[in-house]
Amino acid sequence: MTVAALEPASTLPLGMGQPLLVVRDLTKYFPVKRGVLSRVVAQVKAVDGISFGVSRGETLGLVGESGSGKTTVGRCILRLIEPTSGSVEFDGQNVLNLDSGDMRRMRRHMQIVFQDPYASLNPRMTVGTIIAEPLIIHGGMSSGDRASRVAQLLETVGLSPDYQKRYPHEFSGGQRQRIGVARALATNPKFLVLDEPVSALDVSVQAQVVNLLQDLQEQLGLTYLFIAHDLSVVEHISTRVAVMYLGKIMELAGRRELYADPLHPYTRALLSAVPIPDPTRHKSRIILRGDIPTPLNPPSGCVFHTRCPIAQFPICSDVVPPLIEHKPGQFAACHFAGEPVAPAAALPS
Ligand code: SF4
Repeated sequence: MTVAALEPASTLPLGMGQPLLVVRDLTKYFPVKRGVLSRVVAQVKAVDGISFGVSRGETLGLVGESGSGKTTVGRCILRLIEPTSGSVEFDGQNVLNLDSGDMRRMRRHMQIVFQDPYASLNPRMTVGTIIAEPLIIHGGMSSGDRASRVAQLLETVGLSPDYQKRYPHEFSGGQRQRIGVARALATNPKFLVLDEPVSALDVSVQAQVVNLLQDLQEQLGLTYLFIAHDLSVVEHISTRVAVMYLGKIMELAGRRELYADPLHPYTRALLSAVPIPDPTRHKSRIILRGDIPTPLNPPSGCVFHTRCPIAQFPICSDVVPPLIEHKPGQFAACHFAGEPVAPAAALPS
C-alpha cells in the first residue's frame, strides 16, 4: 500500500463553474456545560474544519449517517446556528461578518427547506399566510401583490392557488413539502439548503418531490445543497457529492466518479449498502464494525479508523489524512485512498 499523504497538497474542492458559495475551515463545536457555574467540560465536535465550494446552478449532495454533522453544516451556512470558526462566502461576501440587519437581507437569497413537512408548517396558519410570511418579513410588497405572489408560488410547486385558505393538516406529506418549497422560493432566492427534504416522505412521493426540485432548479437557475442520509437519494439530483463522517468530509467528487469508482473505504461501504434494482446482479456488502463514535470524543488521527476495514497502524490512528485531490475533481481524506476493500475483511470480528 502507498501512503497518499505523500501526494500533492490538498486544494479547495470547488465545483467546475463560477462559485456561488465557498466554505472554508468551517467548524462548529457545541460546549457541554456542567455544575452550578455551568463550566464548559467538553466540546461536541459536530463540524470539524470542512471546506468546499458550490458552483452556480449545481447541486452538491451532502451525505452522512445520523450524527455526521451534515445538518449542522446547512444551518451554519445560513447562520441559523452560529459557527465556531471558519468562513462562508456567498456571492463573494463572508456572511459570518454580516450584522443582523445585513444578514436578514442576505437571507432573501439563501433559504432552507426542512426535513419534516409536518413539523415545519405552523398548524394554526393558513397555507397562504405561511407562504407569505417571508414576504412580510422582508417587506416592500402590498397585500394584493403578496396574494398574487402566493398564488403564483402555489402553481409553481404544482398546487392549486385555491389552497391558500386551507390549513396544513388538510394536505398529504408530499403536498406539505411542496408548500415548504413554495415558502422557501417566496423571496426569489439563488440558493437553497434542502435538509433531507424527502426523508420523511413515502418512497412513491419522494421521486415526485425530487423531480419538482430538479424542474425548479432548471426554470429558476437555483443552486442547491441537498442533505441526505443515504447515497441513493442524492444520486439523481446531484452534480457532485460530499460524504461526511464525524464532522469531516471523507470524499467529495463528481456524481459519476463517486458512484462508479469511490476512493474512500467509507464511501465504498455506504455504496455497498445501496440496493440494486436488478436481481441478476450481485453486490458484496461491506459491513462496518460497530456504531459511529461520539463526536464528544472523536477518534484520533483518521476519525474513521475505529471502523475502517483497511486501517493500518499507527499511521491511521496518529495522522489526520488531509482531503486531497487524487483524480481530477475527486478528493478523498484517506492515507490509502483507492486501495481495495475486501468484503470479508469488513465483517465484524
Ligand atoms: Fe484511510 Fe486509514 Fe482512515 Fe481507513 S483509517 S479511511 S485507511 S486513513
